[in-house]
Amino acid sequence: GNVVFWMRMRDMRIEDSRGLERASQLVQERKGSHLIVLYIISPQDYLAHDRSPRRIDFMLRSLEQIQSQLDELNIPFAVLTHEPRTAIPKKALELCKEWGVSNLIGNIEYEVDELWRDVQVVEQAKSYDVHAEFLDDTYVVPPGRVLTKDGRPYSVFSPWNRNWVDVLSKTPQLIESSEEPKANDKSVRSDSKLKGLFGTKIPESVKGFECKDRSYMEKLWPAGSKAAQKVLDNFVRGKGGLPILDAPATGEDLDKVQAASKESRLGRYGTGRNLMSENGASRLSPYLSAGLISARQCLRTTRDVTKGKLQVGRDSGPAMWNTEVSFRDFYGHVLAAWPRVCMGRAYVTRYEDVVWEYDNETLDKWQQGKTGYPIVDASMRQGAKQGYMHNRGRMVVAMFLTKHLMHDWREGERWFMRNFIDGDFASNNGGWQWSASTGTDPQPYFRIFNPISQSEKCDPQGEYIRHWLPELRGVKGNAIHHPFERLSKEEFKKLDYPEPIVEHKFARERALRRFKNVGEK
Ligand code: FAD
Repeated sequence: GNVVFWMRMRDMRIEDSRGLERASQLVQERKGSHLIVLYIISPQDYLAHDRSPRRIDFMLRSLEQIQSQLDELNIPFAVLTHEPRTAIPKKALELCKEWGVSNLIGNIEYEVDELWRDVQVVEQAKSYDVHAEFLDDTYVVPPGRVLTKDGRPYSVFSPWNRNWVDVLSKTPQLIESSEEPKANDKSVRSDSKLKGLFGTKIPESVKGFECKDRSYMEKLWPAGSKAAQKVLDNFVRGKGGLPILDAPATGEDLDKVQAASKESRLGRYGTGRNLMSENGASRLSPYLSAGLISARQCLRTTRDVTKGKLQVGRDSGPAMWNTEVSFRDFYGHVLAAWPRVCMGRAYVTRYEDVVWEYDNETLDKWQQGKTGYPIVDASMRQGAKQGYMHNRGRMVVAMFLTKHLMHDWREGERWFMRNFIDGDFASNNGGWQWSASTGTDPQPYFRIFNPISQSEKCDPQGEYIRHWLPELRGVKGNAIHHPFERLSKEEFKKLDYPEPIVEHKFARERALRRFKNVGEK
């Protein structure tokens, strides 16, 4: 029979995909068998999971590219929209029947709804005479493989990371590449059951998820696996140093940047990653989240830079970056081990009863970037404009929302998912819960960032702030970090900028109290 590879919104590439490799191998083993790739657009899932229009648009743009790649390989690409989402397993299997398919293969998605869907597929497949199988692909080390001596999952990053490195050194094949699918023979194009699947029209938008800034997004985040590779190359080889905050992730203005620093961005990552005005991080997250590039490919690339040995830790740019890439694995492992985090629950169950404020006015101000704390506001405006935020900014605004404003972390989690192009459940939930102290941070709830000192440390010259807050462009020197306090009353009044919506000391004490006395106001 024929073989279907079912691609989903997190593994949108034909390169280095475990499931697709396996599907292609099965086809090679048989005579007259063809490979088909299936993609089901599921608006109900997007709604249930707060998918942003930008993320959906990024998916649609990527589908177009995948379609042309597959077309060159004579592989039919069936793209369809289906509702209700509970009927998707049945639909996929009916299609298998229609196409004479004996094997259905996919990569595992570890979130609860998705796992449940795939369990249904495996169970129902038998009555369609189909063998369904799902493989580990998304994370470098599959969830469940990094365990303590007594076989339990780790809840703290550092020991987990040491063990992750250990697993990788014992099973180096985990980071090696999968083969790209082999072409079908041309006869597939005249197969009466399959020929109609070539040239499916990819929709331009999904109803309810129309992307209002598509052309800007397209420029900033070009879709497809080739673009992803370019983003990675640009990070590994391109030079860092200039605040080119509006440049495409693929680094089209590389020449301009080369003048600024002799070192590559990867080499400088140890310091560059926390300087918010620098183009110091890779900006690969939209690509990794959609699976346009594999995390394995990232590690192989940095391994090449460090002469074939994978570095992890804090001693060099590549080591530091690989550690961050491993963070992506960590949160995937956390999610797979404690599925309650998928259901809106706190990782530390004791903190489920922390009393939060539900106040739309301050929530609105946070969302609009009008809190009166420049580093918070600049970060929020970057997020709103680019659908992406600097990692340091994410931590600062998340702490601010949950500790200074005492808003429920789920409000922030949702806001990011609904607006960002790189929304990834595990990393986003992990980041929010970490910041809110309901998550895996081993430090207690006393960790409360001071937005002013964060600003001085991570945007020392205030360039990032001035870039994103035009109303503060005229503010000179150190006042940029706290204009309300550091300018005279008259000077401050002239700026069209709000007073701080909450006082740091008051907020800090309130948060400490609420966490200490869980359940009390
Ligand atoms: P780089 O510094 O170049 O890192 C490379 C890659 O490593 C990233 O693309 C990402 O895949 C991974 N990575 C780095 N840091 C982390 C981390 N802390 N946790 C998990 N993976 C990491 N990341 C997302 O991909 N999607 C999200 O929705 C998301 N939401 C977040 C929410 C909060 C509150 C916080 C604090 C962090 C969140 N992160 C999220 C993690 C991190 O901020 C982003 O991955 C990073 O800023 C993306 O930029 P980059 O690709 O330039 O990162």
